[in-house]
Amino acid sequence: MVAATPAAGRPEVSIVVIQPTAFCNIGCTYCYLPDRNDRHVLSQATVSRLFTELFASGWASPELTVIWHAGEPLVVAPGFYREAFETIERLRPASVAVRHAFQTNGMLIDTDWCALFREWGVGVGVSIDGPQPLHDAHRKTRRGDGTFDKTIAGIRLLRQENVPFHVITVLSRDSLAMPEELLAFYLSEGIDQICFNIEESEGSHVSALFEGVELRERYQTFLRSFWHAAQASGKVRFLREIDQAIPRVFRPNEACSRNIQVEPLAMLNVDSRGNVSSFSPELLGLKNARYEDYLLGNIHTHSLVQIQQACLESAMLRDIRAGVEACARSCEYFSVCGGGAPVNKLFEAGSFAATRTSYCTLTQMVPTDLLLEAFDRLEQGVANGAAPPPGPQVASPTAAQLSRVP
Ligand code: SF4
Repeated sequence: MVAATPAAGRPEVSIVVIQPTAFCNIGCTYCYLPDRNDRHVLSQATVSRLFTELFASGWASPELTVIWHAGEPLVVAPGFYREAFETIERLRPASVAVRHAFQTNGMLIDTDWCALFREWGVGVGVSIDGPQPLHDAHRKTRRGDGTFDKTIAGIRLLRQENVPFHVITVLSRDSLAMPEELLAFYLSEGIDQICFNIEESEGSHVSALFEGVELRERYQTFLRSFWHAAQASGKVRFLREIDQAIPRVFRPNEACSRNIQVEPLAMLNVDSRGNVSSFSPELLGLKNARYEDYLLGNIHTHSLVQIQQACLESAMLRDIRAGVEACARSCEYFSVCGGGAPVNKLFEAGSFAATRTSYCTLTQMVPTDLLLEAFDRLEQGVANGAAPPPGPQVASPTAAQLSRVP
């Protein structure tokens, strides 16, 4: 069972993705952002208008995450964010807790940024693709040089300044075969919170990763090896692919997994000119005549109620719902996944109404299979008389318990 939209007709906005600028200071080979040369910067008036509307609507989740992304957020100065955060804080009702998060290439991190991150408890994600040869193969400057040196300097400064952070590594064909090398790299740099992204086909970018039929097997082998070695090291605190899958897989029968990428306005995505979209944030900025460029209105000219109405009447929502219903009918992973990521259905299968994609196979099916595989062995061991691993009951295991199974 998957959660329905909270209180029919009344959205619950859980994540606001804001594009401070579409501009990015580098040019990764797999980048899908169409406007990465556009230097326009979000205005403080847009921040104020957006959060005035959102908080007045009563639709903000009690725990609201604001992600500054969809371009390189650090090309806009720290002072801009101080002012924006203060505006949001002034408008925020007491019933809503706001957490800010940045996803950055890390190259511009300095002590001013570290002070801002610490002061506001900002969640910081740094994109680094592993050791230098892996990273520099795809993450390049506009001139084609590698960016590793500056990114790792940013990471080292975060550590030195005691700013908590996680990394996101985009896996390529090469790094999929190198779980041990990746782990050794993270440990050598004191990186203990790790997320993997699969190089996706999105927008104008077609990923080479999906060539060949055995990708599912290769990724499963990679993730199993990495997870077990990471747990054995005792030095990795968080592996998103496993740690976020556990509560979705091991939950009471009556509990629901929520998929906010298919709920109207559960993700409110706003570009630097105030244009509003929803569902997968990657849709923001892409062009499509059939879906009116995936836009639902502009926060300066439309109320949030009008934007919600446009969403409810949109062909985009109709087709996304058709895809979710098709998933519910046909996929045994539906209770964990909730119908997948619309952007990947569109770009891989050509339709929001599609079901299975390579992306969902890798991000939903593989982690679920690994957890169930480990759980079976855990149960089997206990049934054969082995002492249960220390920790919570085996019915709701932890990553450490599961990975300790031979
Ligand atoms: S795993 Fe794929 S096919 Fe299954 S519910 Fe999710 S998106 Fe649909």
